[in-house]
Amino acid sequence: MAALAACVKVRHRSATTGQVTQSEARAGVSWQPSMEPDCTDRADEVELLIWPRDSDLDGLTIRRLLPSAKRRLVGPYVFFDHFGPFRFPAGQGIDVRPHPHIGLATVTYLFNGEIMHRDSLGCVQAIRPGAVNLMVAGRGIVHSERTPPERRQEGAELHGIQLWLALPADQEATDPAFTHYPADDIPMVEGEGLRITVIMGEAFGVRSPVRTFSPTLYIEALFAEPGRLSLPASGNERAVYLVEGRAALGACPLEPGTMAVIRPAAEVSIEAEGPARAMIIGGEPFAEKRTIWWNFVSTSRDRIEKAKRDWREGRFDPVPGETELTPLPD
Ligand code: MN
Repeated sequence: MAALAACVKVRHRSATTGQVTQSEARAGVSWQPSMEPDCTDRADEVELLIWPRDSDLDGLTIRRLLPSAKRRLVGPYVFFDHFGPFRFPAGQGIDVRPHPHIGLATVTYLFNGEIMHRDSLGCVQAIRPGAVNLMVAGRGIVHSERTPPERRQEGAELHGIQLWLALPADQEATDPAFTHYPADDIPMVEGEGLRITVIMGEAFGVRSPVRTFSPTLYIEALFAEPGRLSLPASGNERAVYLVEGRAALGACPLEPGTMAVIRPAAEVSIEAEGPARAMIIGGEPFAEKRTIWWNFVSTSRDRIEKAKRDWREGRFDPVPGETELTPLPD
């Protein structure tokens, strides 16, 4: 059982939580693709506005922002999925059956609800709001993500974001690993009517303990009332995603569910018109191109082809406690 050593659970430090209320999580995630105003011609700060597209996650419809037609990566981020807010009928929930990954790390962060993670290293870990699950696929991992049975009985809710980070070329085939960081270990900065959580990287005088592989930034800004958050100029790529509420980036109003890619080196402020939740992602871009196919990310097409064959032919390690599998797409 040596593999269990790879399941790291960071120890609790205090009793505070990053939990948000249901009403916050439900505060309207909606957008109208028919109205896609383009503010980028009059907003100096915004390079591109990305509207979400519907994507299927084992039967659930979720919003995918990255990769998009006009933009593949922002910093090291290759995938940006926003799921929910969902309220499931009693007995139902999410069931993302075991599936493989290579060449990336998944970052899961919830606003509401709970997901049980199981992987081929033998890690079994529930994630709740404010905590971070970092799963490093490296040369290969298999995992499932499901609503825990006790939540399912009562009618589960779920709202959160999963990002995929591409690993730097020299770390693509690193050992798989799983780390859970409880909400108490993720640093927060409280302002007037504003709470900033630094999920990955360093900002506003605090540094997240979450492991990174290249310069990486991931921040949640939760406004309780109208307010403004200035983001200092940076040489790295950055984008702002509005989860809920009303906000603008300079001259660019943001609809919930849209992502604004910030122009390189621009100084920019998020201006909330009321309660709002925004996520800021960013980091240093990679020099090499990546191929993304299904759940596989790599600088090498050969490695993707090998991963396809390995999954089709059952050469990935199984997930203890699971009997189902997600078949390789055609
Ligand atoms: Mn996955």
